[in-house]
Amino acid sequence: MHEASYYEKLDNGKVRCYLCPHECIISEGKSGVCRIRKVSQGRLLNDTYQRLSAVSADPVEKKPLYHFFPGEPILSIGSIGCNMSCQHCQNEEISQCLDITADRLRTYTIEEIQDQLNEGGYQMLAFTYNEPLVNYEFYYDTAVYLEQHGIERVVVSNGYVSREPLQDLLPFVDAFNIDLKGFSDDFYRKVTRSTLQPVLNTIEAIIESGRHLEITYLVIPGLNDNEIEFREMIRYLKTLAGADQVLHLSRYFPHYKMNRPPTSVDTINRLLEIAKEELNYVYPGNMGAGTDANTFCPKCGSLLIERHAYNTRIAGMDGNRCSECNTTIHGKFRTT
Ligand code: SF4
Repeated sequence: MHEASYYEKLDNGKVRCYLCPHECIISEGKSGVCRIRKVSQGRLLNDTYQRLSAVSADPVEKKPLYHFFPGEPILSIGSIGCNMSCQHCQNEEISQCLDITADRLRTYTIEEIQDQLNEGGYQMLAFTYNEPLVNYEFYYDTAVYLEQHGIERVVVSNGYVSREPLQDLLPFVDAFNIDLKGFSDDFYRKVTRSTLQPVLNTIEAIIESGRHLEITYLVIPGLNDNEIEFREMIRYLKTLAGADQVLHLSRYFPHYKMNRPPTSVDTINRLLEIAKEELNYVYPGNMGAGTDANTFCPKCGSLLIERHAYNTRIAGMDGNRCSECNTTIHGKFRTT
């Protein structure tokens, strides 16, 4: 148990947590919406400090990040809890988990995480799997520590966090993938039990900070695939970040409480074409092993990075430039 940050004690013995826009008012012995921040003896505690449900290595493309050291492995850690309640959650076992004593949670110190990074030769760590920002305190401490040890830090998040904790964390994170789950408040309220504007605020703050950002948009038939709304979302991203904003359009499959049929391949392809009218780097996701997600130079059209089923090959780049026309490519790439 670790005392939580970003809360205040109220006169009535309750506490108000302001880590995320839910701003839960929590009574003694109870938890907030995320289930893992709990009041005990008048203090708000984070039940998940140093407690992880998963530690494993992934290709960085799996986060997904396609313009952040492509082809490299990243050590990924996750815990439990989430501040959204998405009907189609793919990780409900850990996101909606009520049982903090579950056998699957293991205790790790920051030094033990660093040992795993060293043993595997990893240069990057991702906070991922469940919603990492509800596990804020341990991840903040880990990010600060690893910054001093030259490890790149990645956050994969739903973006539903308040301004102050986000601003405090930003200097210690190198890259984000934010799920933009829809582009209407109605969608957010009905499907995720949260709201859209705070997620947009997070996206805007990350862009303003200059941190690397990729966006994932999971296309759900009949819920967020309306062409007019989708075009609005694309224009919003372009206005905010320019044509180089990286976007992943992912195919939905039925899961958890949502049983509508999977997104058709035709829908993904149609939205891909619409997005590519405005953005330079748009990629399909969840499309099966036979689908390529290559990167092409936005200026001369040369193949830069070849991707097939998480096998990635740098095909036509010198450092961060197109080897044909020397155009600078958005993102972070190792120079050899
Ligand atoms: S982080 Fe959890 S407890 Fe805090 S406001 Fe958000 S949902 Fe509520």
